[in-house]
Amino acid sequence: MPAPLSKGPPGGAAATSPELLRVKSPLVSSQGQAPWVVVGLDNGGTSNSATVLDSSGRFLVDELFESPSRVREGPAVAIAALGESLARVLQHTGVPRESVRAVGLGTPGPASADGVICSKGATNFSEPEWHGFDFRAALEGQIGIPVVYNNDGNAAALYAHDSHFGREAPLRSSVSAIVGTGLGGGVIEAGRVIRGAAGMAGELGHIHIPLQGLLAEDQPVPECNCGLGGDVESIASLTGIEKNLLPYWLERFPDHDLHRVASLAEAARLVRRYGVAEDPLALKIFEQQAMALGRLFTIASNFVDPDAYFVGGGVVEASPEFNQWFLAKVRRHTSLRVEQAATVSFALIAHLDMAGARGAALAAAQWLDRT
Ligand SMILES: [Zn+2]
Repeated sequence: MPAPLSKGPPGGAAATSPELLRVKSPLVSSQGQAPWVVVGLDNGGTSNSATVLDSSGRFLVDELFESPSRVREGPAVAIAALGESLARVLQHTGVPRESVRAVGLGTPGPASADGVICSKGATNFSEPEWHGFDFRAALEGQIGIPVVYNNDGNAAALYAHDSHFGREAPLRSSVSAIVGTGLGGGVIEAGRVIRGAAGMAGELGHIHIPLQGLLAEDQPVPECNCGLGGDVESIASLTGIEKNLLPYWLERFPDHDLHRVASLAEAARLVRRYGVAEDPLALKIFEQQAMALGRLFTIASNFVDPDAYFVGGGVVEASPEFNQWFLAKVRRHTSLRVEQAATVSFALIAHLDMAGARGAALAAAQWLDRT
């Protein structure tokens, strides 16, 4: 690990715990304290997003800061591209490389808790070279800085939790559901990601939910890419719209505009726009998605009884009115006990495009606190 830039403030810094220094010392200290930062890198299918978090808990990058991820070109090129993202964000923020104590890395799963890509590969990592590839260790070897791994859903959940609760984050728990191509998210307890023994905790998309009263009487059981029928992702995801919900509902609306769109994939992407315009077919689809998330949160309420439920993703990146309508539907379909309902909060995840990188940085800062 790189040495601190200085030995700390004069007048007995050695007696101060490292945790206190981390919380209190800003990046550029007037007292000459050892400044440090962590960097968050979110590795996506086409781009890497990067951010820098300083020792006072402040993000030094306000906007989305991206560069090409080149994951389709195999591990060696992708690792070099992450090294480039790191260099660029440090240059952008004017932070010297020696100040970086750790790098948080987030990637799509499935991967182990330590960042080894699944032996069968994954959507973004289909080439054989990626199968079983130790992504975390390879990046650490390339950049010479400790790398802390989280899957991107868990990283985004950590950021949602931290930004919602602020200083109270270490005292709180939450469950985040992020509706995208699939259904991602994570579970946070006492401010930390629940990772699980094999790194597969918080795989909320593949939890079975009861379908009675959710599906129409003649609606087939939705199927998920994972092989399960009737899990959350089979309904509450873009893939679920394309494969399951839209084909069924289009049959019920024979004159709908979306029949004239070339492909189901393209039509599925348009459904949100119709939802904003209160189109009856689109509202049927989003009501089913909201009900699926509510049933997921009902299960979560009995497992972890969290302080908050967060919803993010394309489904709530529409108009403010639509987003609130959707969130209210989710809440209505979450069955809570009276005591739970009195204390819990439901919220949308803001700045989702930056959540992966920011959550990865927060995880790296937490790792520093423990070491
Ligand atoms: Zn599934």
